[in-house]
Amino acid sequence: MSDSLFADASKRLERAMKYISISEDALEYLKYPKSSLIVSIPVRMDNGALRIFPGYRVRYDDTRGPGKGGVRYHPNVSLDEVTSLAFWMTFKCAVLDLPFGGAKGGVTVNPKELSKLELERLTRGYIEAIADFIGPDIDIPAPDVYTNPMVMGWMMDQYNIIKRSLNPAVVTGKPITLGGSVGRNTATGTGAYFTIETLMRKFDRQPHETTVAVQGFGNAGAVVAELLAKTGYKVVAVSDSKGGIYAKKGLDIPSIRHYKESNKGIQAIYCEDSVCNIVEHEIISNEELLALEVDLLIPAALENQITAANVKDIKAKYIFEVANGPISADADADLEARGIYVVPDILVNAGGVTVSYFEWVQNRSGLYWSVEEVNQRLQQKMIKETEKIWQLAEEFDIPMRTAAYVHGLNRLGEALSAKGTRDYYVNG
Ligand code: GLU
Repeated sequence: MSDSLFADASKRLERAMKYISISEDALEYLKYPKSSLIVSIPVRMDNGALRIFPGYRVRYDDTRGPGKGGVRYHPNVSLDEVTSLAFWMTFKCAVLDLPFGGAKGGVTVNPKELSKLELERLTRGYIEAIADFIGPDIDIPAPDVYTNPMVMGWMMDQYNIIKRSLNPAVVTGKPITLGGSVGRNTATGTGAYFTIETLMRKFDRQPHETTVAVQGFGNAGAVVAELLAKTGYKVVAVSDSKGGIYAKKGLDIPSIRHYKESNKGIQAIYCEDSVCNIVEHEIISNEELLALEVDLLIPAALENQITAANVKDIKAKYIFEVANGPISADADADLEARGIYVVPDILVNAGGVTVSYFEWVQNRSGLYWSVEEVNQRLQQKMIKETEKIWQLAEEFDIPMRTAAYVHGLNRLGEALSAKGTRDYYVNG
């Protein structure tokens, strides 16, 4: 694995370039982030002490529209990680044809160690530090790992205090009562479900004969697990950061979700009304979950989960990347050689930013949609772009990841070229 996540991420671009004709200038632009902001956020802790947290906001490219992307609170957040995530957002927005560029933010912090008040002060401090670099037409933050609607509400509020005006479209993923969109909270998992269903039909795979393992039971993983289980897929394993559970017969996902929400842990249980019973299961580690012999493997946690170190253990037939960057570039080659079908993050998890786009549109028009309308539009978009990428993959006989980059690169290349390239100036 490469030392830098961003260097690893860029390799996907190099491969895609072989399949399209894109101007050299456009490619040169896409090799570098447009701007990278590093800030220090002072926070007065509950015990009176002062702590300074490093924060970042990277706008990778905004040729197709304002920067768009989440803010992550995690102890491993670094400039390299945020840059890679902003790069992926650029391609994700292009793949889904959203009028946005790509951006990402983060704070290096373990939010589980902070009180709610400290978290609020940190969030307001972060916006204080980046307020001049964001805005509804500049760059629009959203939730990511360990940030949620409440955090987004604080972000919007702080921005409005600074600007002395109301700007709901400055962030997405807000609480519904503060201008959030219905369906945003479940959008990443729901969008992934539409892509999985579209592709499983192509492979003539029936849900009841398909086993699934999901790594990560957060907002995205739990939703996709539940939708798949409802359709008849056999979800045999799920995990969170502490470890996982496996049951050959399949797990009852709604019960597990209900338990996790009220008790904060994952348990193999089956609930009827308010009575829950533990069912037969094995306790497994996250590494063991990834190595299960299942049809569908869904990494829905963090990046770099499948790397050169463990790729040989993977036995799934299909992998759908619900997390951002869960497979390293060198592991990709190995999976491809073994015929394991990988569907990339920039398509599979794009439902989140797609409904963020819907939220931004609703904020700006002042007209709010029903959950049916949101989900129907999401379904249309996910199916349409999944089909296009599938066709490109078939046409060039390339993996879905490369096809997704080709698809995004086509749109980005067109937009960058429309601003004038060396061909225009030299030959014109
Ligand atoms: N953090 C999410 C992602 O990685 C959502 C970004 C957004 O809604 O802007 O796609």
